[in-house]
Amino acid sequence: MPGAEFGFELRVCAWAERHWTPAEPDSRVLVARQLGTQRRRWDTVIVEADPEGVRTRAALGERELDPELLSLARHAPAEWTYYRDALPDPGYGWRYVREAVHRASARGVLEERKRSNRIEIRRVAPYPDWVRRIVAVENKPDLDASAARDLAAQLERDVALGLADEVWVATRADETRALVTEMPTAAGVLTVGGEMDATVAWHPRSLDPDATGVRVTAHGDPTEFEYVPPEEKRETRRRIAERAYGRGWRSYVETMRPDCRAFDLRRAGEGYVPFCRAKGREQTAAECAGSCAEFSPEPPGWRQRGWPIEGGPGQAVQRLLAERRRRRRTDAGD
Ligand code: SF4
Repeated sequence: MPGAEFGFELRVCAWAERHWTPAEPDSRVLVARQLGTQRRRWDTVIVEADPEGVRTRAALGERELDPELLSLARHAPAEWTYYRDALPDPGYGWRYVREAVHRASARGVLEERKRSNRIEIRRVAPYPDWVRRIVAVENKPDLDASAARDLAAQLERDVALGLADEVWVATRADETRALVTEMPTAAGVLTVGGEMDATVAWHPRSLDPDATGVRVTAHGDPTEFEYVPPEEKRETRRRIAERAYGRGWRSYVETMRPDCRAFDLRRAGEGYVPFCRAKGREQTAAECAGSCAEFSPEPPGWRQRGWPIEGGPGQAVQRLLAERRRRRRTDAGD
């Protein structure tokens, strides 16, 4: 059924946020969805964060740092320094770096000033090493034999690359038997029963993100692959963690239409999932768009007259989810 996989994914995120047990008990847990690289996108990503590190990270703002800003945050010096002396040679025009410096300074990621016609920069806070572990979860509520084979092959590639510290598949409890036998033994299996009751059916093996990984580039005979050095993996992990920090897992509401009369949020286990009253079921993020045939915008009066308090239901939903995301990030920075 459309929407079932999306709703399952949100339930897994809500469960992980509340019940995930990090490897180090004092780690803070951040959960995000649909993150990864150009080649591979994971459904749910759990970042286990160093509590002191994530507090320091908060000094650089709530929003994620894109790769340019991340590089500036990591290299900005403690004392005022000419930007070209402080930053690594970008390998392309410095004028692009200057533009990024202006953007970073406008966002409060670093400070800039002009001295003798030269731009100098200084950091507002050191960029901390705040990521302890990254756990990737593939959500597959319903599996047939051929989907299980494809998933097993995908997980084999995740294990060979070792970008995450652990890889898991989450599925419905009644799929367990087939899954455990099909999946690579290094991958964990999480079974989800009822509204949201998850149990571990198979523990994963810890992978080594600090080791050289193997990336399959072409299937065939022979299979082609390339080695991925640890430094490239570390950089990719930092970028994934930044996106998780900035987006969390509730940002789906930004692409859906909570301003539609039919949009509703229903309680599901420990969180909320979107529910479409017009379709009478949970809708996917893709179908809940302005192009939806049943889209019916809130009357302007709801929004303009502060109905019932500061805007209509759409705005209230946005506020609820934004507030929960912010609170989660703040809790992680406690
Ligand atoms: S009718 Fe369409 S746009 Fe409105 S809530 Fe349902 S899926 Fe979303």
